[in-house]
Amino acid sequence: MSKTGVNQLILQGISGSPGICIGKAYIIDREGVDVIKRYSIPESMLTNEVNRFKDAVEKAKQEYAQIIDSLDEDLGTELNILESHMLLFKDKMLYEKSIQTIIDNKINAEWALRNTTRQIKLIFREVEDLYLKARGNDIEQVSEKIISYLVGVHDEKISDINKRVILVAHDISPADTSQIQLERIMGFITDRGGKDSHTSIIAKSLKIPTVVGLGTATINIKNDDLLIVDGSTGVIVINPDEDVLLSYEEKRERFERNRALLARDSHLPAVTKDGVAFNLSSNIELIEDVVAARDSGATGIGLFRTEFLYLDLKRFPTEEELFIKYKELAELMNPQPVTIRTLDINGDKVNPIFKGIEEENPALGLRAIRYCLQNSNIFVTQLKAILRAATFGNVSLLIPMISTVHELLTVKKILKDVILDLEKKGETFKKDISLGIMIEVPSAVMMAEELGEHVDFFSIGTNDLIQYTLAIDRKNRQVAHLFQPLNPAVLKMLKLTIDAAAKKDVNVVMCGEMAGDPINIPLLMEMGIKDFSMSSASIPIIKQLIRNLDSKQTKGLYEKALKYENTAAIVDMIKNKFKDISPFKEEDLI
Ligand code: PEP
Ligand code: MG
Repeated sequence: MSKTGVNQLILQGISGSPGICIGKAYIIDREGVDVIKRYSIPESMLTNEVNRFKDAVEKAKQEYAQIIDSLDEDLGTELNILESHMLLFKDKMLYEKSIQTIIDNKINAEWALRNTTRQIKLIFREVEDLYLKARGNDIEQVSEKIISYLVGVHDEKISDINKRVILVAHDISPADTSQIQLERIMGFITDRGGKDSHTSIIAKSLKIPTVVGLGTATINIKNDDLLIVDGSTGVIVINPDEDVLLSYEEKRERFERNRALLARDSHLPAVTKDGVAFNLSSNIELIEDVVAARDSGATGIGLFRTEFLYLDLKRFPTEEELFIKYKELAELMNPQPVTIRTLDINGDKVNPIFKGIEEENPALGLRAIRYCLQNSNIFVTQLKAILRAATFGNVSLLIPMISTVHELLTVKKILKDVILDLEKKGETFKKDISLGIMIEVPSAVMMAEELGEHVDFFSIGTNDLIQYTLAIDRKNRQVAHLFQPLNPAVLKMLKLTIDAAAKKDVNVVMCGEMAGDPINIPLLMEMGIKDFSMSSASIPIIKQLIRNLDSKQTKGLYEKALKYENTAAIVDMIKNKFKDISPFKEEDLI
């Protein structure tokens, strides 16, 4: 943090999505539920306070009832959890005790409820019985829901903001990010988050300048402060001096001019000067993103992150609902390829509806295919919808987070059963769909040859592969500087995967954010990857780089990189070698 002029303050964070915006701050403190104040209630207002509490309980109950109504009946586990939560709203220990605490201590409802919940949790913590322990957690979840109505966090929806602002938040979930209205929100900044966290990925696909991992933005910034957000360098200037403002206005213009120039050429093919061709596809989160994918010059959808359909809906969609969406995507892109990934839920992509279990380490928990194999009805619903939609275009099926051969064989067994079932029902569907797995866990890299026996393609997910190889949480700003795609250990992981794929004649795509950063391309090119999928916003710049390169210039880069001991030296070596070609020439505009 540095101060220059009278009011000016500069904060350094992490680049989440490139570009510059200048505008007024609008603070949305999504952590509001954590900060509960205790205040006294006069005797004469106690009945009001109790009614305020009862009202919040009713609203929370109604929200649950709506969700339950919208759920498919075969989703037994989720229904059971929600129905048991419904009973807890009027639980004697929670409901009546909270009312009594308001009256006896003459204090506000949220403080009384939080206090009562803590006491109940203490009692349950002591018991051995696992069922009762879990009940303690259920009570806490129900209580947080009521508190969110009491403190009004519920009323604060990003989609309700009706002026052009820069959002300032402690954290924004990927689901909230996908709700952002582009005509209102110019950019956003958060205290938490890392470069390739899902929140940053969505910001990139929306092309909004974003800085994450600022640590203290919500403390240092007040509503209506003038902000400069430089998403390319991760710098925030609060109440800038006149000359600083002027220089950033110039930089913004240069950035936008450059982006327009890149867009102009984005429909040209991605072929190097010596004629080596590459496929550049888009990663998308919603069907609507197809427009941006097309505009960017993508030749297909290399990764459809289907979980955002679920996060936005806040319930589990039916087979028919999924089928309609997948069919629309297949038809829109036909004959270009579309890779649909099955649900990669949990980890950092969580919605209250999936929060049946509290996890200490969500990234290492019941995420993606692990969740789907434990909830096979949800998995089967998706597979059926994908196989049926596949007859309307050029569709492949991708399974996330495979970490053992056994897991993959279980998936294939379920897929076989799904095919039999669809046949029995006389449905029209694609039986021999191309099947791929994400390679994003080190154990999958080590077993790539064995896994390659059973699939048509690998899709390397570097966001998670880096997270799990280097033990760096994608979301944790404290260790974000250690999240290094060009770390030699990561390069070796990639090499093992590429070699195993070549041996087993399996196609390789890279769909992690590593593919969308120009600095990584020369090395990836030399290592033999020809298919890349990335945020649509990155495609024009990567095309420009490929078109300016001669593949012979990349010869020997991999061996050379491994001779260096640290990543910074590898980055410098590449920057230096290619410094005369675009986009490295205009480094401050990347
Ligand atoms: C990845 O892990 O690299 C990936 C593409 O998947 P996601 O970012 O959705 O985890
Ligand atoms: Mg992943």
